Amino acid sequence: MVRDIKSVSAEDLRAQFQSWNQPAYRAAQVLEWLYVHRVTSWDAMTNLPKVARELLRANFSLHALELVKKQGSRDTTEKFLWRLSDQSLIESVLIPANPALYGEASDRHTLCVSTQVGCAYGCKFCASGLEGWKRNLSADEIVEQVVAVERRQTENPHPQDSPQSLSSASTNAERGDPDARPGDTISSKRTPATERLVNNLVIMGMGEPLANYDNLLQALRILNAPWGGGIGARKITISTSGLAPQIRKLADDPLQFRLAISLHGATDETRNKIMPVNRKYPLSELAAAADYYQKRKERMITLEYILISGVNDGVDQTKPLADLAHRLRAKVNLIPYNRVEG
Ligand code: SF4
Repeated sequence: MVRDIKSVSAEDLRAQFQSWNQPAYRAAQVLEWLYVHRVTSWDAMTNLPKVARELLRANFSLHALELVKKQGSRDTTEKFLWRLSDQSLIESVLIPANPALYGEASDRHTLCVSTQVGCAYGCKFCASGLEGWKRNLSADEIVEQVVAVERRQTENPHPQDSPQSLSSASTNAERGDPDARPGDTISSKRTPATERLVNNLVIMGMGEPLANYDNLLQALRILNAPWGGGIGARKITISTSGLAPQIRKLADDPLQFRLAISLHGATDETRNKIMPVNRKYPLSELAAAADYYQKRKERMITLEYILISGVNDGVDQTKPLADLAHRLRAKVNLIPYNRVEG
């Protein structure tokens, strides 16, 4: 299968150009077209010679997500329904940090992205699992959700959008980029039309992120890289329904991502009723993995807890929930339940 260019690291792209006997600085030019100008075709990369474009075209795909529907407004949240190249549908949700509700303009935007088409985990309160799992998203399909939202929003600017300033971004030379030239910074290449909009990511859309571990991590390295999405690792929260072995693996990754656990029940009895994953990784195992993560990263974990009347909101849950939160030094995020038909 042909790899998509948005799943390739800068290092690999430089090596690729060298193997074609092309100058390595072509890689920086391609990355700028992808992540600063957000182009959707090889022909738009106008400072690349035709031979370089043809080599790219023959060896990589360059897919853009197709917007099927957008719901919501810029002042609150916007939900994007995307069509993938195999016609599957996924969603991303853009959330301004300070909704106009509080009378302030928002200069921070959080994007919630999907990692799978459907989900195999079948949590009883969740619409994503209703039709089962279809496939994992590739790294580029995860990356492109961020790029596509920014592409759309900068093409249709809103007076309240105040994209993140990159004036303090380090230069390529400071980052040790061997191809850097004086004054050659990503920020210096940004104009109002190409400024970044998304500065927080939550990996909480459709799918269980840690069940698509390798593609997710590749996508997040690209979204975190200064030549890519430029989103700080500490501004990226990965949510899991409780895949204990992958939580340990993530704890050993050098990047400092934040972890959120979809807990939704503080005893095995309650959790078993609504989250089948708990039968595989019961709370004792999940808590031990979360302990490990907390000790390795020294970052506060968030426990997500959707309150479902009569199911998990009894006082019998409060003591074990508080004990677990104390043990992990975790924050508990209580979420009102949104009714899901079916
Ligand atoms: S793991 Fe996440 S996406 Fe999958 S069914 Fe559970 S809550 Fe929904």
